[in-house]
Amino acid sequence: MKSVTVLSGKGGVGKSSMTASLAIALSKYKKIVCADCDVDASNLALVLGIKERDYQDYHPISTNQKVKFDLEKCNSCGKCFQACYFNAIKFDGKPKLKEFSCEGCGVCELVCPTGAIEMIDVDNAMVGYAKTKYNFDVHFAQLMAGESGSGKIVTLVKNNARKTEAELLLVDSSAGVGCPVIASLAGSNYAVLVTEPTPSGFSDMKRALAVVNHFKIPYGIIINKYDINRGITKEISEFAEANSSEILAKISYDLNFVAALVNLTPVIEYNKKFESIFSELAKKVIRRLENP
Ligand code: SF4
Ligand code: SF4
Repeated sequence: MKSVTVLSGKGGVGKSSMTASLAIALSKYKKIVCADCDVDASNLALVLGIKERDYQDYHPISTNQKVKFDLEKCNSCGKCFQACYFNAIKFDGKPKLKEFSCEGCGVCELVCPTGAIEMIDVDNAMVGYAKTKYNFDVHFAQLMAGESGSGKIVTLVKNNARKTEAELLLVDSSAGVGCPVIASLAGSNYAVLVTEPTPSGFSDMKRALAVVNHFKIPYGIIINKYDINRGITKEISEFAEANSSEILAKISYDLNFVAALVNLTPVIEYNKKFESIFSELAKKVIRRLENP
């Protein structure tokens, strides 16, 4: 199954709105499945109009461990406190865990001379999927508050989606350039970078592009709200030309996007004038996938 990842660098540029409408447009040409890999703030299902009651197989998962001390066995040597890179252990004669700081790396267990530390599995996310009314499924997960391990959860969501009988996996990555973004991009055949013409949008797009280039993934750029700052739009276009990058689409600022979000309807469905825009975009993405 080939995969396309949509990412942005900066949050709030309209990535999930774009992904939802692109998914519907792609589904007219290919059997697709979506993976919402923004596990810190999963909302693709919401944008596609799915309610929590529609969730299927929604269950807790554990991709991380945390420390449990057996103070009976502890000799108060303080080695765990000294070894913890994340400063997740308080030490006042005996160790005490700072729950939200522990990354589950297991170093303290290795250095403990008395076997007083055990690593135990913790539920750190909820995972599930839903059937959309657009004839494709969306898989998603929601990291629990204060928990870590997002990269592993992203990989799990993608693997779950890949079990579906589909030709194309569309991945909605989180913003930024961290672990969940890297996990979203891993194994992708094509990337769609969504940006907006603001200084931070352009700067963060370039940071995200560095990750895409690291994996040598072909990509194209969407400039959303291109007409709010034509000067920076020109700079992005010049940057794209200088780097032999393709601008897939320039989409104007349009309050229909806001109204569509308020109504939990992808903009391609909310206003038919967007059908041709996203249909052209979908056809371009399919062409790039088939002729890299
Ligand atoms: S598992 Fe790692 S992060 Fe957690 S307390 Fe031990 S050393 Fe620190
Ligand atoms: S390393 Fe083990 S024995 Fe030493 S303080 Fe920590 S828990 Fe106690």
